[in-house]
Amino acid sequence: MTTLLLGGLGLGLSLLVPEVLARARWTARAPGPSVVLWQAVTLASVLSAVGVVLVAPEELVRALDTGPDVEAWVLVGALAVAGLIVARLVWSTAGVLLRSQRRRARHADLVDLLGRAETGALQHPGGAPLRVLDGPLPLAYCLPGRAPRVVLSGAALQALTAEQVQAVLTHEQAHLRARHDLVLESFTAVYQAVPRPLRSRVPLESVSLLLEMVADDAARARCGPAPLASALCAMSTDGDLSTHNLSTHDLGPAGRAARRHDRTPQDDRRRRVGRLQRPATAEGSLRASVLALAVAVLVLPTAFVVAPWLAQALASLPPLPGW
Ligand SMILES: [Zn+2]
Repeated sequence: MTTLLLGGLGLGLSLLVPEVLARARWTARAPGPSVVLWQAVTLASVLSAVGVVLVAPEELVRALDTGPDVEAWVLVGALAVAGLIVARLVWSTAGVLLRSQRRRARHADLVDLLGRAETGALQHPGGAPLRVLDGPLPLAYCLPGRAPRVVLSGAALQALTAEQVQAVLTHEQAHLRARHDLVLESFTAVYQAVPRPLRSRVPLESVSLLLEMVADDAARARCGPAPLASALCAMSTDGDLSTHNLSTHDLGPAGRAARRHDRTPQDDRRRRVGRLQRPATAEGSLRASVLALAVAVLVLPTAFVVAPWLAQALASLPPLPGW
């Protein structure tokens, strides 16, 4: 019974819930807590998968009443498979982090070589160094890591007013300060570790957009909504104020191509601009509710599905000699 419950929960959390959550409009009103909710859903789906691997063999041998020797071997096998799942996740995470670090270090070297260091009024006090690259496209992006950089193109400086440039830089510095790159990379790692039939790029894409909104809110708080909204419109090219370019490398060609079919960067930008054009409202209760939901997603399955099974499994163990 626990196997079925955990299996259903795992499938629901990895296939059904992401589709519903990705379409929900309220997440844009509380983007930070919504990212936490996505993390909770993803972690709970991984825990459910590990739970099924551990619980299913135990329930089967208990139903067949095979005797303690078989039970012990089945338990060892189940632990080995669960260990493999965890190892695959750790391996995937290490690979994604390492490749991103190398790619960004190379990119930062190039930017240092080709760009000019901006030390004037544009440089945020205490913020990552700003590099300006010559080029015809209005670009702005950040390079996270141990030596972070914010990069602007000369065309962006020409196309934007001083206010818009400040809003753009505040947005990029917010990404760097909060290490949004690590959040995205954790979702990329899970995406890569999950077997193909169960794999969904929806969480990564949704979180990517929500993190843009979090950085938008930082820029709105400092510079007001209008400069960033108009800057987003002025920079409506494919190279944009976005961390997408830093997260999709690890999806592989199929993953990168697939995301173009249903939601384009232009769609995301329109949503962000529309959001900035609406008055910001204090949504304390919504934020608290979303965070409470995130806690519930993690705690409730453990309390109502895993804990009763564990209590029953422990009670059915033969007493150890001398106890
Ligand atoms: Zn951004």
